[in-house]
Order: sequence, then structure tokens, then C-alpha cells
Amino acid sequence: MNLVDTHTHLDFPDFDADRGALLDAAQAAGVRRVVLLGVHRANWERVWGLAQEDDRLYAALGLHPVFLEEHTPAHLDELRQWLERLAGDPRLCALGEFGLDYYLKHLDRERQQWLFEAQLRLAVDFQLPVLLHVRHCHAAVIATLKRYTLPKRGVIHAFAGSWEEAREYLKLGFKLGLGGAPTWPQALRLRSVVPRLPLESIVLETDAPDMAPSMYPGMRNSPAHLPAICQALAELLAVSPQTLADASTRNAYEVFGWA
Ligand SMILES: [Zn+2]
Repeated sequence: MNLVDTHTHLDFPDFDADRGALLDAAQAAGVRRVVLLGVHRANWERVWGLAQEDDRLYAALGLHPVFLEEHTPAHLDELRQWLERLAGDPRLCALGEFGLDYYLKHLDRERQQWLFEAQLRLAVDFQLPVLLHVRHCHAAVIATLKRYTLPKRGVIHAFAGSWEEAREYLKLGFKLGLGGAPTWPQALRLRSVVPRLPLESIVLETDAPDMAPSMYPGMRNSPAHLPAICQALAELLAVSPQTLADASTRNAYEVFGWA
């Protein structure tokens, strides 16, 4: 099996004790490439440093809406400088994690929108795909994406929307990131949407250390769990795990422009 974990936070201290061993275990289980996402100015060095040290790791950089109050306009300028400096480097695979979060009520929506669109413009300028965080705000994100022509599109990470919302993203050329959430029996709506998704639209992810799948409840999530997630989702989609692995990896390669 050849799998890509398109969304992780392996730079988090949760993994300091065993990051290398865990990547070895994931690789032995078929997870060949793992994407690390920057979420705020303070973790870009670490994300980028890890991607330099290990050729299984790829980096994305961004300003995550959950850390809204921490971000400053200077951080956006710095993001542009990083992208200028790293332009053309194959270890930089996308812009992210960024997007909108309407679930957390204390986050100012106007300021979120400003930061979201500023990063969409960077994706246009630097021809990078985007890895988007979208929580309780699909309508706002879809309306915004319709106003931009993104050269490389990207992934709606941890997609948990309706079939109608899925269809809008697919029309815009986006892939949907699926991970632990749809493995939970109580995720009824999501589990009814997933079987309707075309295989061409799915990429797999763990969101490690978060979003543990139902097979590993309450545990630290990791890329080593991706094969089990692939198996559970393949069952839901009524295809073989190999078929889902092949399709999702092909889709990830397409998003990131990997040969
Ligand atoms: Zn994330």
C-alpha cells in the first residue's frame, strides 16, 4: 500500500519522544509521505526544519484561524517573505493551514475573513495549493472561493459538511480530506455523505495528534493509524482498501503536483 497523510501536526511536542520511530512504523505500514502544517508564526521554523531533516515529510505554512488573536499583519508579511525564499523548493507543498472557524464564537469573523483572503491571494501569487480549515462556515468559504481563481486549488481538511456542500467544493476543483471523523458510528450525516463522494475527490489524513479514529478511541492520533482509517473508509465506500489507497494517493499527488 502507498498512502499519503495529507494533514498532520507532527511538529507538536506530543511527538518529541518518538517522532522518528513513529514515522518508521507508519512507513512500514505503507504511509510514504506525510504533510506537516504550519499554524502560526511560532511553528514555521520547526515545521520547515523537520521537513528538511526527513525526506518523508513535506511542509505547508499558514496562519490558522484558531490562533487569530495571535496573528499580526507583520506575520502575514513574514509569510510572504518565507514563500519568496522557499519558492520552487519541493519540500514546500502547499499553503496552510488557514481558513475560517465559526464554531469558536470568540473569533472575530471580519478579521478571520481578512486573514483568509490575504492567504488566498498568496496562494494565487505563489501558485500553491491550499489546505483549508472550515468549521461551521461552509457557505462563507464556498462564497469566498468563488471569488478567487486558485491556480492549484487544494483540500477541504476534515470535511464534515453536507452532500450539497461537497458538490460545491468538487465543482470548484477541491478535494475533500477524510480521516478519523467518519469512522465513528455516531457521525451519521457524514457517514451518509461519504459513500456518495466520487473516489476522484478524496484524500486521506489523520490530523495527528487530533481526531482519533473509532479503532483507537481517545488515543494520540498518528500517521501509523492511516492504514486502519483507509480500511474503515473503504468499507463505507464499498471499495477495497487498495482501491481507496490508490485513488486517494493519486489525488494527493495531483493536488501537490508530485510526479
Ligand atoms: Zn490541522
